[in-house]
Amino acid sequence: MANIDNKALYNIGYGLYVITSNDGVKHNGMICNTVIQLTGTPLTVGVTINKSNYTCDIVQSTGIMNVNLLTESAPFSIFEKYGFSSGRDVNKFENTVYTLSENGLTVLNEYINSYMSLKVKQSIDLGTHVMFICDVTEAEVINNDPSMTYAYYHKNVKPKPAAKTAAPSSDAPRGYMCKICGYVYEGHPLPEDFVCPLCKHPASDFEPVE
Ligand code: FE
Repeated sequence: MANIDNKALYNIGYGLYVITSNDGVKHNGMICNTVIQLTGTPLTVGVTINKSNYTCDIVQSTGIMNVNLLTESAPFSIFEKYGFSSGRDVNKFENTVYTLSENGLTVLNEYINSYMSLKVKQSIDLGTHVMFICDVTEAEVINNDPSMTYAYYHKNVKPKPAAKTAAPSSDAPRGYMCKICGYVYEGHPLPEDFVCPLCKHPASDFEPVE
């Protein structure tokens, strides 16, 4: 039987984006890595969003979103701000300076090199996620800074676990690090039902740190 190594899928190249939307009361934003151009004529872009994200509900009801293309200059605080809390609980644009595109949605004022406004023309239910297939209604290049990739984020932006201290040597790992956001759980073993307090990913997304 053919082998399936999930790690092969880690090697797919991704960018990182802030998807902005508006629920009728406030602006919202989320971090997303699943944005792809599908066709050129007409200009069609696909965005896949987890149903547990508030943005998924908003886009399903409003049919519009903006994609803000992050650059390598984006600090970890941007990922904390848009990625590790929910717009159901907080206003992510409070105390944030932004501009509006023609569709009335926010465009970030820093750490992006381009944005595009999308209008949903079809959505596909994928079980855990919804894939939105969209027309591009507006798009602008702001600068030529290099785009943030998922690989760059993991290598240069995500916090590194603290250096090993002179602890008594033992075979047990010192702790476990979240592969998504870099949070470190100190101790061993990692509880099976552990959920990352920062990004809410499960224990299966943690790896031992020595
Ligand atoms: Fe995490």
